[in-house]
Amino acid sequence: MTDKVKRTIEALKSNGFDTVYVETAEEAKEYLLNEIGAEQSVGFGGSVTLQDVGIYDALKERGNEVYWHWFPVDGDKRATMKKAMFTDIYMSGINGITEDGRIINIDGTGNRLSAILFGHDRLFLVAGVNKISQNYEESIIRIKNVACPLNTQRLSIHTPCEKTGKCMACSSPNRICNATLILEKQHGGVPTTVVLINENLGF
Ligand code: SF4
Repeated sequence: MTDKVKRTIEALKSNGFDTVYVETAEEAKEYLLNEIGAEQSVGFGGSVTLQDVGIYDALKERGNEVYWHWFPVDGDKRATMKKAMFTDIYMSGINGITEDGRIINIDGTGNRLSAILFGHDRLFLVAGVNKISQNYEESIIRIKNVACPLNTQRLSIHTPCEKTGKCMACSSPNRICNATLILEKQHGGVPTTVVLINENLGF
């Protein structure tokens, strides 16, 4: 474990976030399967990291009730997002973690941000160590100039960053970065576990 990762884990813990460190995505999947009961329902926020971990398929195969708008029920993304809001457990990736233990997520729609703040019995936030930045400013620069362009390109969302590969501070109707949530400390809404994986995952 690098000093940077060690510092970040200590900071997350001192901010009140239950924090689990694992070496691989496979270990993260095993951890999550053990923590989540077979009878619990699970909602998902959009996340390449969660896709890489493979937890959605693993839970579904085990028989958990799962809702992820990337696999919309009856083809209805918005209805699936709403179902994910009312599950026992919610699971999301993280766009940025700062070395002082703050957790940043940016949404176009806001479904993840709402679910992260309140309503579930437990929240799991899963990220690779590539999401760690020194401070808030660097984290936002990384999210807007790395994560957002790669996401718009991946999803063929037509924004300026899809074409240029960097943030153009746009007002596009397709803008994917309309709302920013910073968790500074463990909040009262949902008990949160951060699962930090010693791999580069997602963007
Ligand atoms: S403001 Fe526009 S160009 Fe910048 S990251 Fe967001 S969607 Fe892309």
